[in-house]
Amino acid sequence: MARVYNFSAGPSMLPEEVLKKAASEMLDYKGSGQSVMEMSHRSKWFDDIIKEAEALMRELYSIPDNYKVLFLQGGASAQFSAIPLNFMNGSGKADYIITGQWAKKAFQEAQKYGDAKAVASSADKTFSYIPKTKPEDFRDDADYVYICMNNTIYGTVYKELPPVGDKVLIADISSCALSEPLDISKFGMVYFGAQKNVAPAGLVVAIIREDLLGNARDITPVMMNYKIQADAESLYNTPPCYTIYICKLVLEWLKENGGLEAMKEKNIKKAKLLYDFLDSSEMFSGTVVPEDRSLMNVPFITGDDELNAKFVKEATEAGLVNLKGHRTVGGMRASIYNAMPYEGVEKLVEFMRNFEKANS
Ligand SMILES: *Cc1c(COP(=O)(O)O)cnc(C)c1O
Repeated sequence: MARVYNFSAGPSMLPEEVLKKAASEMLDYKGSGQSVMEMSHRSKWFDDIIKEAEALMRELYSIPDNYKVLFLQGGASAQFSAIPLNFMNGSGKADYIITGQWAKKAFQEAQKYGDAKAVASSADKTFSYIPKTKPEDFRDDADYVYICMNNTIYGTVYKELPPVGDKVLIADISSCALSEPLDISKFGMVYFGAQKNVAPAGLVVAIIREDLLGNARDITPVMMNYKIQADAESLYNTPPCYTIYICKLVLEWLKENGGLEAMKEKNIKKAKLLYDFLDSSEMFSGTVVPEDRSLMNVPFITGDDELNAKFVKEATEAGLVNLKGHRTVGGMRASIYNAMPYEGVEKLVEFMRNFEKANS
């Protein structure tokens, strides 16, 4: 069996142990005589799975009791609409920081529903940094402030949260979820599409402070109403059962491997290996300012489109796949999520070193 090192930004690698466990339970889940794909979402087996997934999520992230954990569908993108529909209902104002395409899409969606304001942006330098903000940049009566924590396409991350005071902070953490500890109590809501770092596509996890629920607009589609989803314990309709099951296996894997502190250490070590090489290379360079570099998504370039293409092609042949940069930025991008082993990054750096020698 030849498994590749998959550097895709998402859907992305899952831990091999998790895939093996899922395979071993495929035909007969715990004596049920059926797979998790086939069983009722109201069955005892599935009830145990979703409850266990929530309990593990609460444990790993130390989620305070006054937060709900929801398992939703529609991708992270559906939340771009659900967030204003549920929360932009006091002053009808919300402040957005534009750090890339995902933040911009969320902002554009919010503009349909009320007074959404872009209070800062790093568009002037192709989103290669996180814009600094001051408390006075945010409107006093904004219903919430919205950020995208880790910018999957551009490779930047917030190392420090913006100074929003006691305003409600909402963060899209799709591409850094469970990659390191996070103080959930600083947020009104965090959410993530699972296909980046946690599970297959089809699942969004939303962690929401309870007191914010219950103010959704009347026109809110029922599936996007967080209060209804919370009251139904994420079983308002048929949830993505199998994806939630894999999510549970990944959470177990995280716990068995030392939890989020250990994961953070491992992720720092992986990213350092790659960034150190980029900083020392004559051919390759990173595109992000050093202080805002993501641990998860590492974009880099050679400065020559033909050379970039040659690199991606030869890397693919060597079993290092999906290194092509996002279609809107070009160059290369290595996504090195939780499931990417250290050896995968070692192989990549070794390949880059040899490529540089052979082509200069
Ligand atoms: C991928 C991604 C999205 C979009 O996710 P979908 O589930 O495809 O809608 C949104 N935000 C971030 C940060 C992402 O990385």
